[in-house]
Parts: sequence; C-alpha cells; structure tokens
Amino acid sequence: MTENREPRTLLVGPGTVFTPERCVPGGGVWIREGRVERVGEWGELRRRAKGVRLLDARGGIILPGFCNAHTHLYSALARGMSVPGAPARNFVQILERLWWRLDKALQEEDVLASAMVGLVECVRCGVTTIIDHHASPNACAGSLDVIRGAVEKVGLRASLCYEVSDRDGGGREGIEESVRFARTLRTRPSRHVGALMGVHALFTVSDDTLQACVAAAREEGLGLHLHVSEDRADVARNVARYGERPVMRLRRHGALGPRTLAAHCVHVDGREIGLLARTGTLVAHNPESNMNNAVGYAPVGEMLRRGVTVGLGTDGMTADVLREAKVAALVARHHGRDPRKGWDEVRRIAGEGTREVVGRVLGDKIGRLEKGWSGDLVVLDYDPPTRVGVENLWGHLQFGIDARHVSSVVAQGKVLMRERRLTTVDEREVMERARERAKGVWGRMKNAKQAMENGK
Ligand SMILES: [Zn+2]
Repeated sequence: MTENREPRTLLVGPGTVFTPERCVPGGGVWIREGRVERVGEWGELRRRAKGVRLLDARGGIILPGFCNAHTHLYSALARGMSVPGAPARNFVQILERLWWRLDKALQEEDVLASAMVGLVECVRCGVTTIIDHHASPNACAGSLDVIRGAVEKVGLRASLCYEVSDRDGGGREGIEESVRFARTLRTRPSRHVGALMGVHALFTVSDDTLQACVAAAREEGLGLHLHVSEDRADVARNVARYGERPVMRLRRHGALGPRTLAAHCVHVDGREIGLLARTGTLVAHNPESNMNNAVGYAPVGEMLRRGVTVGLGTDGMTADVLREAKVAALVARHHGRDPRKGWDEVRRIAGEGTREVVGRVLGDKIGRLEKGWSGDLVVLDYDPPTRVGVENLWGHLQFGIDARHVSSVVAQGKVLMRERRLTTVDEREVMERARERAKGVWGRMKNAKQAMENGK
C-alpha cells in the first residue's frame, strides 16, 4: 500500500478562484483533511488557517481539478507505433490490427509502465480524476492491483475496471479479476481508487457472458462500464446475431441504470436515447477518438435535450481533457453547421455532465471548490490578455487556457505538481521505463502478426 502520509491540509493562493460558478479574485482555497474547507479572500484565509502548509499560486487562476470520464491507461505504449500493412479500412480492422494486438502483448510490467505514463500525463494536464477501462488478456489476474498501485503512487483518483470480452474466449477470467478486485477494495479500501465491472462492447460478448457480468456486478455492488454503439458495426452485429440494437439488448439484461457508464453512444436511435434518459444511464462522449476512428458523431445535442447525463472522455487519445473540450466544441459546430453549438452544449458536457459522471461513479463530491467537496484543484499561470470572469471563463478555456498553463496540481489536499515539477514520481524514470518496456511489447506484436500470417 503506497498511501502517502503527507498531511492533506493545505492553503492555496493567492489567485483568481473559480468554483467554477463563483469567482473570487485575490482569493484562495483552504483544504482540510483532503476536502475543501473554505474558499475566500486570501488575507482572511491566511489569518484563519494558521500554521497550514502553503502552495503559492502566484496570482494565477485556480480551478477545480479536471476529470476524464472515459480513458484507457493501457494505450500509452502504442504511441508512435506504425502499424504494418495497408491502413485499416474500418473500425473493426483498427481494433484487430492495433488495439487487440497491443492488449494481448502486455505483460504485468507493461501494464504498470503504461499506467505510470498515463497518470503522469494526467497530472501534467491538470487531471485529478479518471475513469479507466483496462485490457491485458495475457496478464489479466492482478492487473487492477498493479494499476491501483500506480494510481496511489502518483496520487490522483481513478475508477478502474477490467474489460470482459469473449473475443479470445476469456470472458470468465475478466469477470474473476473484476470480482477479486472489488473484494480487495472492500477489505483494503483506498481513497484513490474505486471499481466498476468492465465489459468491452456488446459485439464481443455473448448473452451468457453479459448476463454473468450483470449478475456479478449486482452481487459486488458495482456499476457497469462499457463501449456502446461506438461504430455501426456494433449495431449491425447485434441486430444480426441477437435481433436487437445494443441499448435494447442492455435493457433485456437489466444492464441499464444510474450506475452504468456507456462510452460513445455514437449510433443510438431515438428509442435508445429515450431508454438511456429514463434509466439514468451515464454516457461518455469522446469526440477526438470518434473522429480518429472515423466512426461518426454522437447525437449529444439530442441526448442532452432528452435528459441524458453526458460527460467528456478522451478514450486514451490524450490525457489532455482541455484539448478534448476544445475539440468537442469545434466538432459540435462543424458537424451541426451551427456556430451556436459548442457553447452551451459542450460547456454542459465538460462541466456539470462530467462532474455528475465521475461523482456518481466514484461516490464522492468531485469537481467543485465548495465546502465539503474533494480538495482537487489546478493552478494555471495564465496571464490573460482580457479580463476573465464567470461569464466568459468558458471562452478563455476554449480559446486561451490550455495544458501548458497548468503549473500546480492538488488532489485530495496533496500537492502532485508544484510549479511544473511532479512531487510524487520521477518523470524521467517513468518515461525511460516505458521506452524499455515498449520495445518488448512492439516485438511481441510483430511476432504475433507474423505467426498469424504464417498460420494462414
Ligand atoms: Zn474506450
């Protein structure tokens, strides 16, 4: 167990604090025992919070820590990899040629190396909470413990799950890992880590496996986390094999509900959106990944209008959720051919939607600098060329502020980065280790491809 014993009582300021609904210029944030105690005028806070450790914000902007509603830490070692052969023609080929080869090549040490890279990058980008979806079929047992160790070491917060899939006939092992991990968390709780029951997607799980996941989740008190209708192929295969669309199939298995997180939902029809809304199912929108895989654009406008809670994720494309929010706004306008999109719609997804998703998944008050909420914040050394207030913060977040402005990061009252220096891990060591491990992973992927071709 690597829980850090550093006191979690801290005073951060002076700076312009956004709660984010309220702006306190010349203010600060007092965090006590990992929770926000008070946001107020800096001089007053200094008088009240005597003898407390200080984090100098140097007059910067102080925001709640950023959150990522859907990501894959295990994707880190794919960076810069060139996939041999002709470019993938469609989404399923992208999975077969890249991601399903990568996850099979991962050994336990690689799971750790990828997680460390992903987590370090989260801190650099001001991200203090993530919801992760993990796969390593040849290093499944114990993999969630390995990631838990990394999360606790770096110091942020994560909901973890193992993606169950029948694609290699390995559904049972994934369920066992999820159940084992949930029980470990009960006997050895962590203030950094929560758990969900992961499922890859409905086109890779049989009815029996899906039913077993839903039953195990119920028994262990876990929510579900899966990819839903990311590509048309998911819909087509479910209709062909089971005679129903993915969301309808989830309903038949009793898998929808306020503790289910459905990533993507690009190809959901009106009836399915109605079901997502009525059951309170959570959705994670990942526009960069959707564009990268050329799978289409999720009907987020309609989902919001009909009352679905939609948060923002990066799907492992990047740790930078600010970049994702910018892209989300641009593609909303571009796709809708309407410059009004991307303001209210995307602000709701990146703001209250994401807050609701991570708060519900992790069962805590995350994403606001108000008394009693988790003491997670970022300090930005952004020197704005125009004034910043509550009314135009979103404009600055879209067109001014980005990850390079993140100078200090605090999670649950603990400083993870102070003036651009990570405090909990040696970043160079993490990257060196990752490069070492990547050699082996890339080699195994190449061999697997060769073996497959020889076997044909
Ligand atoms: Zn994903």
